[in-house]
Amino acid sequence: MVQPNKVETDLIAPVASQRYDCILVGGGLQGGLLVLAMKEFHPNARVLMLERGPVLAGNHTWSFHPGDVPAACRSWVDPLVQHRWDGYEVRLGKFRRSVLLQYASIPSEHFASVVGGLFKTDSAYTVAVLERSPEMSVAAGCGGATNDIFSADERRKGSDCADSDCADSEWELLTDTHVVEIAEDHVVTSCGQSFHSPLIIDCRGPSRLAGKRGCGYQKFFGFELELREDWPLTNPTVMESIADQRDGFRFLYTLPFGRRRVMIEDTRFSDSPELERQDCWDVVDHHLRGQGITGFRIVREESGVLPMPFDAVGKPSDQDQLAGGYAGGWFHAATGYSLPMAVAFAHAVASGPLAGAHGRVEELARDHRWRATYSRFLNRLLFRLVTPKHRYRIFKRFYRVLGDDAIKRFYSHRFGPADAFRIIVGIPPTLTGLRPIRFFRSLLSEGNS
Ligand SMILES: Cc1cc2nc3c(=O)[nH]c(=O)nc-3n(C[C@H](O)[C@H](O)[C@H](O)COP(=O)(O)OP(=O)(O)OC[C@H]3O[C@@H](n4cnc5c(N)ncnc54)[C@H](O)[C@@H]3O)c2cc1C
Repeated sequence: MVQPNKVETDLIAPVASQRYDCILVGGGLQGGLLVLAMKEFHPNARVLMLERGPVLAGNHTWSFHPGDVPAACRSWVDPLVQHRWDGYEVRLGKFRRSVLLQYASIPSEHFASVVGGLFKTDSAYTVAVLERSPEMSVAAGCGGATNDIFSADERRKGSDCADSDCADSEWELLTDTHVVEIAEDHVVTSCGQSFHSPLIIDCRGPSRLAGKRGCGYQKFFGFELELREDWPLTNPTVMESIADQRDGFRFLYTLPFGRRRVMIEDTRFSDSPELERQDCWDVVDHHLRGQGITGFRIVREESGVLPMPFDAVGKPSDQDQLAGGYAGGWFHAATGYSLPMAVAFAHAVASGPLAGAHGRVEELARDHRWRATYSRFLNRLLFRLVTPKHRYRIFKRFYRVLGDDAIKRFYSHRFGPADAFRIIVGIPPTLTGLRPIRFFRSLLSEGNS
């Protein structure tokens, strides 16, 4: 059967030095979305994914507004979603709001199973590499771990494609493979192996931004819990401020995955990346008891520290070396959410001839440019102008003045000039809690957006 989205015009003839039509470096959110988009549009391409860790996708729960995913991408994004809600709550001090926008979550374990299911069971290339260099082993972390992290059942479960499609495809995944160099047409691993392709995409995540000047941090520690009693709400609470606001805007983020399964995260918009597990757990524990819940068990934990840039380092990249996800600036600088932009990037790369990927990404970067600049400016206001303990007021105002549609446009990075004006005008309502000198100094010393 002909697949409507299939693009077959530009697959590269096999030559010894260019084994792959596309190499993806990094098997996290962006790398995985690219795999799905490539499978949709170029099922016969030869794709190689190189991931530093032992498994795909790390340990995350990615949430987003499903309406932010364009209709053209839903067929390959929807199978990733495990939890959906019809709205969510915001509670900031006495202010309460129900936002009537759909919300959804993708656990990374499920993501890894869906994406991993699209790769071959064994890799002839890896077998050849191992035969040539028997000293390379999984333990040595030199690409020996060809997606054997997935059982055959898991692979079939995660994959929508017929078994025969998967078995025949030239899709290879090497885990435990640390890429140390990315050049225009090849990559080199820490073991000195090189892999060649005319299209190499850097999806190595946020590390490029870590430690840079000119950013604040969104940091969080989350606890997934099994409860003995029912959780009182069926919808998520994406912000519930707590009393201690010293380390920046600090709130609890709660996702009820079931009546007796809930994830609660202590989240902060802070000037520093430091985060202590015990400090976060104490707040979550206190919150649980406040809800009358005493019987619970921690079944999983996750944590993250995301740079929220206010200089140009974090802008969507349209440079010669294609970079997606956080590595390429394809995230919403002011919210830290990256799924909608990562989907858009994957669609731009895969939805036409691969030789035209750079051009399509450039066009998309142009389209996002002013919004990305504006979002970084919001970060500068938040982290440089407003003192940590008064930051909650910015969010309170945001949820007070914007309607559901405007919130949706903001999160999806599709806001217009009128939305941008509405968000800024009236901030700050008073001079209390402002650091104007620090703000103007930061404009001069920390780079311009
Ligand atoms: C805990 C957490 C929760 C988040 N929640 C949300 C959310 O709810 N919604 C949302 O939209 N965003 C969320 N984000 C923000 C953002 O979506 C994530 O950071 C997202 O994972 C970024 O995608 P990415 O592909 O750019 O990077 P990552 O998902 O971090 O993937 C990068 C991958 O590259 C690999 N890698 C790195 N260096 C190398 C190398 N040298 N060689 C080979 N492989 C390498 C890493 O091991 C990793 O697997 C969250 C972030 C964190 C940390």
